[in-house]
Amino acid sequence: MNKNTVKIKEIEIGKGFCVIGGPCAIESEKQLFETAKKIKDNIDILRGGAFKPRTSPESFQGLKEKGIKILKKVSEKLNIPTVTEVMNTSDVELVSKYADMLQIGARNMQNYPLLCEAGKSKKPVLLKRHFGAKIKELLSAAGYILKEGNEKIVLCERGIRTFEDSLRFTLDFAGALFLQRNSKFPVIIDPSHATGNSDLISPLFKASKAAGLDGVMVEVHIAPREAKSDASQQLTPEQFNNIFKGHQ
Ligand code: PEP
Ligand code: MN
Repeated sequence: MNKNTVKIKEIEIGKGFCVIGGPCAIESEKQLFETAKKIKDNIDILRGGAFKPRTSPESFQGLKEKGIKILKKVSEKLNIPTVTEVMNTSDVELVSKYADMLQIGARNMQNYPLLCEAGKSKKPVLLKRHFGAKIKELLSAAGYILKEGNEKIVLCERGIRTFEDSLRFTLDFAGALFLQRNSKFPVIIDPSHATGNSDLISPLFKASKAAGLDGVMVEVHIAPREAKSDASQQLTPEQFNNIFKGHQ
């Protein structure tokens, strides 16, 4: 299968192994800047959520527009490209203006108006698999973006729900490999959300690189225990750097 690569500034996803890192949520300029500054040399793309899809309405929902602006500021200061989630069709324009890549999260994988809007934006899109979706359904979702003339799609396996509950989700590693062989899109994994366990990031990174996947997305927080979301799965910058130093 002829493979697409997705260019984001000087980065080309699908060529070499891409590492996306950063906090689950943008909590303040200081938190994002300090985290990004420490891991900058070992990431290709900085992540950080401003619009957060949370299971409970009582949980931190993100800084929204203020967060997107912080992301842009930090990106410019450190000269690093960014990816961030967009949850609403009405926010696609705003997020496209401030970020280099749009993330469509697991919960919105089948939000067809959002997929179309992301397609129309012509921005690179990181499309995450819903935890209850088949690979075929993920590919159909990608088809909505493609149909609008946007080929800049990267797919992400982030764990599915099975009977197994020792970890947060079940990482469908074989599924990710199958997807990579049976689609033209680069495929990455998100071991942070898949496992909910920071101890498993290092071996899963090594496994994904050895298996020839196109990259990983990993959560990193300046002080994980104080994080406003996903505290147990985020690495400290020091832990992150120990795992990822020299990955290129
Ligand atoms: C995220 O990456 O910030 C996220 C919310 O992940 P997912 O959509 O896979 O749950
Ligand atoms: Mn998270």
